Amino acid sequence: MREPLQFGVGAVAVALAGVAAYTIGAYAATEGLGVGVIKRGPARPMVALTFDDGPDPEYTPRILDALAGAGARAAFFMVGRQVDAAGPVARAAVSAGHDIGNHTYGHRHLWTLSPAASIAEVDRGAAAIADAVGAPPRYFRPPWGTFNWPAYARAAQIGEQRILWSVRPEGLLVAAPSPRMIALVLRKAHPGAIVNLHDRGGHPSTPKETWAALPGMIAGLRARGLEVVPLRVLLAGPG
Ligand SMILES: [Zn+2]
Repeated sequence: MREPLQFGVGAVAVALAGVAAYTIGAYAATEGLGVGVIKRGPARPMVALTFDDGPDPEYTPRILDALAGAGARAAFFMVGRQVDAAGPVARAAVSAGHDIGNHTYGHRHLWTLSPAASIAEVDRGAAAIADAVGAPPRYFRPPWGTFNWPAYARAAQIGEQRILWSVRPEGLLVAAPSPRMIALVLRKAHPGAIVNLHDRGGHPSTPKETWAALPGMIAGLRARGLEVVPLRVLLAGPG
């Protein structure tokens, strides 16, 4: 009776290989190898600041004020559920000339979702943003930067460029205090950098530290000769 057992082991191996391709394989190809994703712009003296997980009723307006005070524009990767709850804040970001990206509807980890549920997360996020601000998002970033293949394909199908980042200063295990965040960005920033920040989510104190860091971060980048530009400018071809 070895054959049924062998069949069982084989089926499990195939299933595991499928799950690995769906999850870690997609992550390795995108985050690791950069296949089909943008992690940085052309090497010109400019950087783009990007904010994930909002809009947040408390911190997104503060961050918009800080950006306006510095005369800088950025990109906001919004969560559809948050857009439904804070539409005026989403519209304020658009009115101020910032770029908008889709960060899914419910910020669920794509590795835990079926293909249909993954596609629905992408589509519903895009729809919530389009309903609120009157235009579809131009960009897509998956929660935690982790794609699966259905979401990867869907984002491109609906015309959203897949964006990750090249600089992440907020701290993984604990929130970085704002002076450390500034120092990290200034040390790691490079021509064409995409900086990953949060106007909501992350660690509990992350949006506050990020907000506090912005004036020093922007001034420091400019002092290094790096202009702070929206994503559409960072990614545009020369001229
Ligand atoms: Zn996120």
